[in-house]
Amino acid sequence: MAKRDYYEVLGVSRNASDEEIKKAYRKLAVKYHPDKNPGSKTAEENFKELGEAYEALSDSQKRAAYDQYGHAAFDPRARGFGAGRTGGFHDPFDIFREVFGGGSASSIFESFFGVEPTENGGPLRGSDLRYDMELTFEEGALGCEKEITVTKLDRCDACNGTAAEPGSSIKTCSTCGGRGQVVTSRGIFSIAQTCPRCEGSGRVFEKPCRACRGTGRRERTSKIKIKIPPGVDTGARLRSSGNGEAGRHGGPPGDLYVVLHVRSHPIFQRDGDDLICDVPVSFVQATLGAELEVPTLTGKAQIRIPPGTQPGTVFRLKGKGVKNVQGYGYGDLHVRVNLEVPVRLTNAQRDKLLEFADICDENVHPISKSFFERTKDFFR
Ligand SMILES: [Zn+2]
Ligand SMILES: [Zn+2]
Repeated sequence: MAKRDYYEVLGVSRNASDEEIKKAYRKLAVKYHPDKNPGSKTAEENFKELGEAYEALSDSQKRAAYDQYGHAAFDPRARGFGAGRTGGFHDPFDIFREVFGGGSASSIFESFFGVEPTENGGPLRGSDLRYDMELTFEEGALGCEKEITVTKLDRCDACNGTAAEPGSSIKTCSTCGGRGQVVTSRGIFSIAQTCPRCEGSGRVFEKPCRACRGTGRRERTSKIKIKIPPGVDTGARLRSSGNGEAGRHGGPPGDLYVVLHVRSHPIFQRDGDDLICDVPVSFVQATLGAELEVPTLTGKAQIRIPPGTQPGTVFRLKGKGVKNVQGYGYGDLHVRVNLEVPVRLTNAQRDKLLEFADICDENVHPISKSFFERTKDFFR
């Protein structure tokens, strides 16, 4: 991505005075400080960009180099006057502290807004997350175990989620004396309010944790095992408890919701816990009856179709369907007979068939017989 112009970042003109640059920085640094925008990546980027812009333009030598060479002045790979001399940029937090005269971010905010940043607030549950997962038909029907990779905000391990720099102290909030509430008098009324400084937690900390920038959380990619129970279908939602984003100020983590999408199958169709399978049979098999080998989810089964089986007849194999996801037993497998009409006959086959037709009477075709009788009544 192209780097933005430093003057533009600070919102000042190219001939701005040092004082104007500093003023612009102070204003924007407070706006974009991660403490004020917990969890916002954009704010974090802006804050970093701002620190860089300020660092470059607040130093007369660096500013002159930037005016002449642009960003190339600070790019160690580029050739030119400033290259390699100006070096890399400092931590934007160091710049922040420098400009605001040291002290913790918290105290700076206090001086600006009269309140502590939300990092000292009460417990907040972490956000829930959604993960869409595709499963094969068998995985959905039979269940499986999946490992997924999720990038999310986890508890910062440097400060153990406290958001305070390790070693720095967490103190009782002096505004409310640790009670989390302040009482103000308005004439004859006393109003108890959540303490604006600690936002009800009763505690404040000295220094924000550097590793997580005082948010208590860090983005991390982790692998999570998800157990898929047998019998799930598209649209099912599994909850992986506590695997959402980390909570804040000691709050519990959110949950991870896995939304399932089950692929279709070339042989089976799902109807709830039942399975439907269309099996082609020949005209001879249907006529004379046959022993059929049919597929099931876990292997094969034999079914016997009686002589004179009509197309569309369904044979039920009890308990050969999908396991009910709530544990109410198993569905059935419905084998539907699909009559295959012979095609591409040889002359010999054709002759035999015509010979067969010649000796057939209406008794071998009771359905046709009754149908034509009914149409006769209909047309009369
Ligand atoms: Zn931390
Ligand atoms: Zn307080």
